[in-house]
Amino acid sequence: MQADVVVLGAGIVGISVALHLQKRGRSTILLDRRGAAEETSYGNAGLIQKEGVYPYGFPHDFGALLRYGLNRTIDAHYHPSALLDLAPFLWRYWQHSRPARHAEIAKRYATLIAHCVEEHDALAAEADATQFFKRNGWFRVFRTKEALDLRLAEAERWHKEFGLAYRALDAAALKAEEPHLAPVLVGGLHWTEPTTCNDPHGLAVAYLRRFEALGGRYVQGNAATLEVEGTGWRLTTAQGPLSAGAAVVAMGPWSDMVTRSLGYNLPLAVKRGYHMHYRAAGEATLNHPVLDTERGYFLVPMARGIRLTTGAEFARRDGMKTPVQLNRAEPIAREFFPLGERLDNEPWMGSRPCTPDMMPIIGKAPRHRNLWFSFGHAHHGLTLGPVTGRMIAEMVTGETPFVDPTPFRVDRF
Ligand SMILES: Cc1cc2nc3c(=O)[nH]c(=O)nc-3n(C[C@H](O)[C@H](O)[C@H](O)COP(=O)(O)OP(=O)(O)OC[C@H]3O[C@@H](n4cnc5c(N)ncnc54)[C@H](O)[C@@H]3O)c2cc1C
Repeated sequence: MQADVVVLGAGIVGISVALHLQKRGRSTILLDRRGAAEETSYGNAGLIQKEGVYPYGFPHDFGALLRYGLNRTIDAHYHPSALLDLAPFLWRYWQHSRPARHAEIAKRYATLIAHCVEEHDALAAEADATQFFKRNGWFRVFRTKEALDLRLAEAERWHKEFGLAYRALDAAALKAEEPHLAPVLVGGLHWTEPTTCNDPHGLAVAYLRRFEALGGRYVQGNAATLEVEGTGWRLTTAQGPLSAGAAVVAMGPWSDMVTRSLGYNLPLAVKRGYHMHYRAAGEATLNHPVLDTERGYFLVPMARGIRLTTGAEFARRDGMKTPVQLNRAEPIAREFFPLGERLDNEPWMGSRPCTPDMMPIIGKAPRHRNLWFSFGHAHHGLTLGPVTGRMIAEMVTGETPFVDPTPFRVDRF
């Protein structure tokens, strides 16, 4: 098999890169060890986070640190046995999350986020996938006035700095929008611009089908077999050897399996997360994704049912599933919204691929010809897949990328 470009990893990021390359006339092979979008891109919360200009930072206030340290929260959980390995990453993550540094990062990160909705809309239109999207935003809801006021003040700052639109909801307005939430809430913050996807896996597969309709090929194989061949690359696949002029590493949390063997020591760690689907009990409906802010879990109306998703678990990427946060969240969620029975046999787990400065790595590998890196999208891989895909394709084909890639370059680490 021969192609101009081989894209390694068929999550939402790799699929978007491959589709954008194929659209630009580069014959492209997309390679994955399993089916498309069956890992992290399968089970996320489906938010295209137009408001997500501040990537999720490491908390700096003492109270939050103490709560997390006790390891009893829903929004964060850690495996004590993994902490030593994770310490260098966590230290750098903590430093990058200092308020002044975080604000600098947000300015750069916002240049990507600004395009997330329109880039999905463009791909969805050509992939005949617009039916996956709802356009009514998402809700952060609050149990205390103190927490509500804090987040509304933050939203107002982001509105002024980044032009983000939001609505403040008092308890009555929230009840009108979401009549089946428990009457424990004092109000909410409605981010109105984000779109939401009711089946992230279905959407990724629709983009893959579009890639194939344009002549792109999907192949199963192990990216770890990547080796230099002349000025290009060679891999061994189940269907035989594969040669390509250029390679793009887009293996999300597993990207360092390839980058490390090529001599790049990039800081990549994971924040694992879980989901479970539930039937809504009786006639109950949920009209928006809702974050129970003070408890730290999402309820999202998906095609399959109500999806409960959890926050960050700091653990080894390939360690056993420990759905502690899901088990803690479920009884609280049942009091919050009338959930019926579980719809999945076991909790799903995914691993958010994270860098310590909270920004993805998008750009050319500094020490190899015709090699590109495209991973580390953390909490926003679904949001940013099509933006990153377009940037990488534009760089590979020698066009000027529509977003300045400098802040995301590989050699910043
Ligand atoms: C609970 C949860 C909720 C989330 N909610 C949101 C949200 O609402 N909005 C949002 O934007 N993001 C969200 N995210 C984050 C988002 O899901 C990820 O950032 C995104 O899926 C990462 O995509 P990816 O393509 O980089 O990685 P992946 O989807 O993990 O894809 C990597 C691919 O590489 C392949 N691979 C690995 N090793 C090899 C190998 N040796 N050979 C070949 N192929 C290989 C894998 O099989 C996989 O298909 C959430 C994540 C979690 C866990």
